[in-house]
Amino acid sequence: MESNNGFFNQYGGKYVAEVLRRPLDELEVEFKKAMADPEFVKELETIQRDYIGRETPLLYAETATKLLGGAQIYIKLEGLANTGAHKINNAIGQCLLAKRMGKKRIIAETGAGQHGVATAAACAKLGLDCTVYMGEVDVRRQQPNVSSMEMYGAKVHAVTSGSRTLKDAVNEAMRDWAANPDTTHYCLGSALGPAPFPDMVRDFQSVIGKEVKRQCAERNIKPTALIACCGGGSNSIGFFAPFIDEKEPRLIAVEAGGIGPGIGENASRMTGNTSREGILQGYKSRFLLDDDGQALPTRSISAGLDYCGIGPQLASLGKTGRVEFTSALDKEALEAVKFFARNEGVLFAMESAHAGAEAIKLAPKLGKDKAIVVNMSGRGDKDIFITCPVFRPVEWKQFLISELERLNDAKDIHDAELM
Ligand SMILES: *Cc1c(COP(=O)(O)O)cnc(C)c1O
Repeated sequence: MESNNGFFNQYGGKYVAEVLRRPLDELEVEFKKAMADPEFVKELETIQRDYIGRETPLLYAETATKLLGGAQIYIKLEGLANTGAHKINNAIGQCLLAKRMGKKRIIAETGAGQHGVATAAACAKLGLDCTVYMGEVDVRRQQPNVSSMEMYGAKVHAVTSGSRTLKDAVNEAMRDWAANPDTTHYCLGSALGPAPFPDMVRDFQSVIGKEVKRQCAERNIKPTALIACCGGGSNSIGFFAPFIDEKEPRLIAVEAGGIGPGIGENASRMTGNTSREGILQGYKSRFLLDDDGQALPTRSISAGLDYCGIGPQLASLGKTGRVEFTSALDKEALEAVKFFARNEGVLFAMESAHAGAEAIKLAPKLGKDKAIVVNMSGRGDKDIFITCPVFRPVEWKQFLISELERLNDAKDIHDAELM
């Protein structure tokens, strides 16, 4: 399961400028030492329990199972982790490691802001200085997450180069790290990027899969399939990790099918027809690229799956067939949000709803004696600006207009402060 010198078959590696080699090598050594140190492992487990709120429950989705009429459906409620999603598992792990290494400053990249929020929260908890690089376009689009990061005390640095989105934020964070390797740790947000990040992020996220394995064993459940959504791949690889070297269960990763198969309409790096091998941002994997090797535009209703690359280990496991890739359309994900909210009282994040959509398709094809486990990587509270305009378009617009009027009517700052 570990990479072979940073490679998972032909994917992975460490394709970075010379200045970044030393900090990456140092990180790899220190990470291995920390994970072999019972003191560090204990500290990590304590903070996972008391701060993140682990373990997260495994819910039997009884009504959903009955309605679909096939395999028993279980939902891993990862969205109940503090901050509302799995990203905190990685952020806390890396920040704890950075602290052990004597680094006082954390930098991170963020696209939609979820990883930025998780990192900002982890830094607040651990007393570390935090700067989050975020494309200027994303800063404008994702104000609620920018506010959260600032509430946790992080500085949000709006990146004005290039397309002013995620890939430019990554470049800027790498530049910062290259200039300040002794004081600073770069907390990368998914199981991708140059080695050792894919191994490290997987290991910090593997707490999900380890818990599921234990929870299934305790209840005598032998799952036929595990299903997770797949952006960069951190929740899926962490969920799958303890099962990869076994023949069963089936491991199913669901990419963003967006609005269709055309260029710029989805983010299907494994199942899409514009996908190809390439080297981007320090690692070799499968990407959505044009003929000149430039990143193609992507599209998804879920910000977290809207990315042109995928972690190298998943790309490799897709090639060997151990992980099966499929996709769900935006509208199927929206239907899944409704289905599980109404029937199970569980509000899936738009990303996680892609896994939910696959469960809805798969369960009826399997016998009632079979079981499947869906990872709900995050909860959907964060998505109200996406779901409400779809489910209640008129009322939502009216609400926004009246909120704006209320803010404009506030007589002075003091009024506004009290609101
Ligand atoms: C960011 C995010 C994802 C996608 O990232 P992975 O690295 O593929 O896990 C999925 N679900 C939620 C809730 C997210 O915030």
